[in-house]
Amino acid sequence: MTTQASPTSVAKTGMHSIDPALVPDSPSWVIDMTALENNLRILADVQERAGCKILIALKGFATWSTFPLVRKYLSGATASAPHEARLAHEKLGGELHAYAPAYSDSDISELLPICDHLVFNSLSQWQRFRSRVEAHNKAHPDRRVSCGLRINPEHREVAVALYDPCAPGSRLGVTREALRPELMEGLEGLHFHTLCELDSDALERTVAAVEEKFGDLLPKLKWLNLGGGHHITRPGYDTDRLVRIVKRLRERYGVAVYLEPGEAVAIRTGVLVATVLDIVENNGPIAILDTSATAHMPDVLEMPYRPEVVGAGHPGEKAHNYRLGGLTCLAGDMIGEYSFDHPIVVGERIVLLDMSHYTMVKTSNFNGVRLPSIVLRHQDGQYELVKKFGYEVYRDRLG
Ligand SMILES: *Cc1c(COP(=O)(O)O)cnc(C)c1O
Repeated sequence: MTTQASPTSVAKTGMHSIDPALVPDSPSWVIDMTALENNLRILADVQERAGCKILIALKGFATWSTFPLVRKYLSGATASAPHEARLAHEKLGGELHAYAPAYSDSDISELLPICDHLVFNSLSQWQRFRSRVEAHNKAHPDRRVSCGLRINPEHREVAVALYDPCAPGSRLGVTREALRPELMEGLEGLHFHTLCELDSDALERTVAAVEEKFGDLLPKLKWLNLGGGHHITRPGYDTDRLVRIVKRLRERYGVAVYLEPGEAVAIRTGVLVATVLDIVENNGPIAILDTSATAHMPDVLEMPYRPEVVGAGHPGEKAHNYRLGGLTCLAGDMIGEYSFDHPIVVGERIVLLDMSHYTMVKTSNFNGVRLPSIVLRHQDGQYELVKKFGYEVYRDRLG
């Protein structure tokens, strides 16, 4: 199959460009290392100015072939499950924090030897595992694990309920009403994660709610973790206000402050390059790609959202309308409606923008569809194929 790159098909990721004709495989995720480094620089600057530590949340982005670069700028990682924690331990290094809605005995066995901070979602979990943590800390005074509690300040900033940990009835974090301070002995920190793709004004209001509800506890703590959802690397994000908020918390309460963004590390750093395999007709043309919304970019259906495509507009904006569809047998495996300046042809490469965060970590092998390869675009403009996924990946996760 031929690869055709039209003049409009150069994808801007951050300040740099990905030329789909030069990408060695399709479908492929392509991470632009220059764009990633630009994001990391912004985060490192906040870290230094605010005097806090910034951890990458692996839930959002865990493409470990980029970790040698991530390691240069960030303080470590935050993990939501033992496998994420192990990956950070093996491939990234630095500080390692973990939080999960609940831990099992075996989770704790895996996490204690490698973590620096463990955040519990409830006081019952802390009561259940406290003696194990204390035994570990006694046996390994040089590898102490500091424990904290996730709180729910019940202050809502997130519009989409699926992503709002403060929605009524949330299972994430302890409300002030449910908190029994007498059971907190031994805990050294508090953690809240209540934002999603938001600016620092949302953080400011959230901190005010935390201080109002939990302010009496703050002076006794060693650390405060402000979670993720800070869109720090988005153009226009007010980093000065973030720095002010963090500094004030540090000074007022004498706490170390942590931020754990996932999305902000990886936004605008990568694309998904796909190829048109066929064009069918039903109420207009449908281009079928060698990728899939449900298997490769599930948030397109789950959130849902319509990814930007290089050189394409909304339907009717340009001369040629197409719907882009995926490769699985799911009827709703549709990416969205677009228009192009030129008629799409079989073999043409399509570039979907902003595809590194919450995509690569969420893929599935549904329908046996092959996973996209992973390509790094290095600072010198070279494309490196770091991973091509074969049949074994599909076979081995079914047993
Ligand atoms: C998802 C999550 C993060 C990262 O959130 P982003 O929106 O990707 O910045 C950080 N901490 C916790 C506890 C999370 O669940």
